[in-house]
Order: sequence, then structure tokens, then C-alpha cells
Amino acid sequence: MCGIVGYIGNREACPILMKGLQRLEYRGYDSAGVAMINPAGAMNVYKKKGKVSDLSDFAKGQDITGNIGIGHTRWATHGEPNDVNSHPHYSQSGDLVMIYNGIIENYASIKEGLTKRGHTFKSQTDTEVLIHFD
Ligand code: GLU
Repeated sequence: MCGIVGYIGNREACPILMKGLQRLEYRGYDSAGVAMINPAGAMNVYKKKGKVSDLSDFAKGQDITGNIGIGHTRWATHGEPNDVNSHPHYSQSGDLVMIYNGIIENYASIKEGLTKRGHTFKSQTDTEVLIHFD
């Protein structure tokens, strides 16, 4: 079952998100990801197949600044567990990201309709169609 954590406040978000994701590991998952907005207003997204510790190692040395962010541990239902299918997922514009828990039963028909309207998708997940309504 997936896990979701979010933070907004005065502290650095990333360590809090990582700790939160570690506390959710017992639920089971196959990959993990975080997104933070840095002080300049840019969004940084890091996601990895595997353990939260793999994600944490991957993020080290990169821009993990910012005091607002979201984190996710994924239990894949649509699309294999890999880095691309891990959450967060981007909107078509790239301005928004989202994480999600659950299944979108009719995602294939939604995806087909959005594709006809020019949307391009990066992942095989059901989740990504939701953020393409931005
Ligand atoms: N159905 C979504 C996916 O496969 C969400 C899975 C979950 O709840 O972790 O990405």
C-alpha cells in the first residue's frame, strides 16, 4: 500500500519527507519519490525504484532545498516499478506535480482522449492522467 507525506513550514522539507517515508515503509512499496520547491521557486523532483534509502542516496548532492514538499512510496498497480513510473508525476506544462494513492479504473480511455488532444505521457501509470487535467 502506498504512503504519502507532505510538509510546509519553516524547516527544510526534504529530511522531514524522507523520515516520513521511512516511517511508512512498513506498509510495503516498490519505489519512492519526493518533490520540493526551492527558495527560488523552482521545483525539484527525485524518484527511484527501490528503497527510501536509495532515493535518499540519489538525492544527496542535488538541490534538495525548500520548505514545502511532498513524498510518496508507491505500490505499483499500473506500470512496472521503475524510476519513470514512480511518483510524483508531472502535468503537461511541467509546472505541477502530483502523487496519488489508488486506482483510476477508466484511465485508459481518459489517456486516449488526452493523447488525441496533444498530451504526451512519460509513464505507464494510471495516475499520470489526473495531473494532465491541469
Ligand atoms: N495506481 C497508482 C500507480 O500504479 C498508485 C499506486 C499506489 O497507490 O501506490 O502508480
